[in-house]
Amino acid sequence: MSELHKFLFDGLPVRGMLVRLTDSWQEVLRRRETASDEFPLPVRELLGEMAAAGVLMQANINFNGALVLQVFGDGPVKLAVAEVQPDLAFRVTAKVVGDVPEGARLEAQVNVEGKGRCAITLDPQGRLPGQAPYQGVVSLHGDQREPLQNVSEVLEHYMLQSEQLDTKLILAANDSIAAGLLIQRLPMEGVGNLAGQRQNEDEIGLSEAYNRISHLAATLTSEELLSLDADTVLRRLFWEEPIVRYEPLQPRFACTCSRERVGSMLQSLGQDEVDGIIEEQGKVEIGCDFCGSKYHFDAVDAVELFIPARDQPPGSSSLN
Ligand SMILES: [Zn+2]
Repeated sequence: MSELHKFLFDGLPVRGMLVRLTDSWQEVLRRRETASDEFPLPVRELLGEMAAAGVLMQANINFNGALVLQVFGDGPVKLAVAEVQPDLAFRVTAKVVGDVPEGARLEAQVNVEGKGRCAITLDPQGRLPGQAPYQGVVSLHGDQREPLQNVSEVLEHYMLQSEQLDTKLILAANDSIAAGLLIQRLPMEGVGNLAGQRQNEDEIGLSEAYNRISHLAATLTSEELLSLDADTVLRRLFWEEPIVRYEPLQPRFACTCSRERVGSMLQSLGQDEVDGIIEEQGKVEIGCDFCGSKYHFDAVDAVELFIPARDQPPGSSSLN
């Protein structure tokens, strides 16, 4: 069962979360395998880390809409996407356009020429037409312009820039599990932790608590994160810290694609285009990149697609 554990450090301005995507992650991979469209191992690892990170970030901000992580650039992987809904339903996909070398990390996958980027999009539910979603974009380079090799480092930068919150993020994935640990400094009353402000001793002490806890978190290895259950990880890392745990949540795999959405997409292509494809191939077949579902529209479906709603018999739907 996939799990997300939230916890606080009692009396300290630090919170944390641990995610373990197991059955849900395996289902993502099984669907690709069934469709004979498996991603290369390094891409599976990248997507698993992005899924874990996306779930952590969504649970962290409780955003009422989709949180979308995208990594894109100039390597053999053109795009990798993880999307997480408010109920922690997630889906991922990637566009692979070249050979991904064995053991390729972030730079070798998407940042070969240094043009790679990571975009974080918050798309509110029920967004009005013309209303733009919020988007933040960060490069895949560190402070010394060195190419970053882990998506966790990229997202730590993003969170520092966008939310001004120090964050430690540890991610790992294999073919059985995608997992992550997030430790974040909470904003303190009176902005005592801003540079140039005088800090009293209490505030300095609280600020050191984050440093201590994030250092402990940094000692967690990928192998431990992938193989140990949540209780064991938290006990081993923070056995001296006052942890308050919350009831675990359950992330799951789910896709938001539907025949209606594919229909609207075809409507926006236009009748001539759709008729042209049907004439050539007998039908239009659209596959979903996220879940592998296939949607077919034949000549009769196409006619119905382009009938104005007022001309349809009452009670009928053109798209089911
Ligand atoms: Zn789908």
